[in-house]
Amino acid sequence: MTAFWTEADYDEHELVQLVHDRASGLTAIIALHSTHLGPGAGGTRFWHYADAQGAMRDALRLSRGMSYKNAMAGLPMGGGKAVVLLDAQRTKTPQMLAAFGDAIDALGGRYVTAEDVGASEADMVAISRRTPHVCGLPAGEGELGGDPGPFTAMGIFLGIKAAVAHQLGQDSVAGVRVALQGCGSVGGGVARLLAAEGAALTVADIDPLRAAALARELGAEAVDAGAIMGVACDVFSPNALGAILDEQGIARLDCAIVAGGANNQLARREHGRLLAERGILYAPDYVINAGGIINVSLEYLCRQHGEPCDVDQVHQRIAQIPGRLEAIWRESEASGESADVVADRMAQALIGRS
Ligand code: NAD
Repeated sequence: MTAFWTEADYDEHELVQLVHDRASGLTAIIALHSTHLGPGAGGTRFWHYADAQGAMRDALRLSRGMSYKNAMAGLPMGGGKAVVLLDAQRTKTPQMLAAFGDAIDALGGRYVTAEDVGASEADMVAISRRTPHVCGLPAGEGELGGDPGPFTAMGIFLGIKAAVAHQLGQDSVAGVRVALQGCGSVGGGVARLLAAEGAALTVADIDPLRAAALARELGAEAVDAGAIMGVACDVFSPNALGAILDEQGIARLDCAIVAGGANNQLARREHGRLLAERGILYAPDYVINAGGIINVSLEYLCRQHGEPCDVDQVHQRIAQIPGRLEAIWRESEASGESADVVADRMAQALIGRS
């Protein structure tokens, strides 16, 4: 592996730590991009990487993304992320989770973890036995925590409504055609909220049974996963993979708006400009998909401060997502820069890096 600070994705990260525990076999990277606004918060990804460089790239990119996301969500949290490098069998043991919890604890609260790809609530419970700097723990009745998916979906639904109002001049999504890529926790949640307000839905998933079940439930149309990006629609909502908006992907789009929850949708920076040149309104991913981190961050902060918190506070913060998007779009129209560039600049100013 080359030195991480020579990686293209290294962006003055405050700390990049390799964690190795021989006894349990744990190998992990914890990356703190910025703690300017508070402890670096962001989930842990458990993944089998083809090489160590891929893991490092993920840790660097994802932790910077969390700095931007948390800042734009108005949270008193910085940006961090961890990746645990699993073997090809994806072996994850209680001993590894304990060692990982100890490594987080040793940072004394500078890094706060939660679930990401490959992690479960049970993993967070195991980590919480070794450190208090973990959230996304199971929630009791009326408590904060648990699956962030529904909160993420709510923010995306409100963001889609804002985009429809901005671009199409409609204050409801009734009759608006939305093509959804991915029918999982986030995509399914967004689809249900849209359907309840009368949107016309086309859905797709690489698991065709999942797409068919959602289509049946909501009276939507299901298409092949390979066809969803070319569906004629008002809104294309990516809720599966990142890096789908490249030259080919953007050329296939037949929509007025791209607004969805997948992280890192733009393959590269210039693709935001390509979208704008096609007249497509883009909702920057880390702004519209912040509902989940809002929920788990408030869970953590309330627990740390011993304060009671309720779900209304989470919803109040999620309700601010449309206003942030609107500010980005207005600035984009005034400056002629694409929405992603404007959002990055706003985020950088908030974390003291302008
Ligand atoms: P999930 O695993 O529940 O669902 C993802 C779905 O996408 C699965 O049904 C999967 O089969 C499908 N899929 C994968 N590749 C696909 C493809 N090429 N075409 C169509 N469908 C495909 O995951 P999720 O929690 O719903 O997260 C979805 C996206 O949103 C991810 O990019 C995630 O990083 C991002 N995100 C999630 C949250 C959250 O709170 N869960 C928060 C912020 C961002």
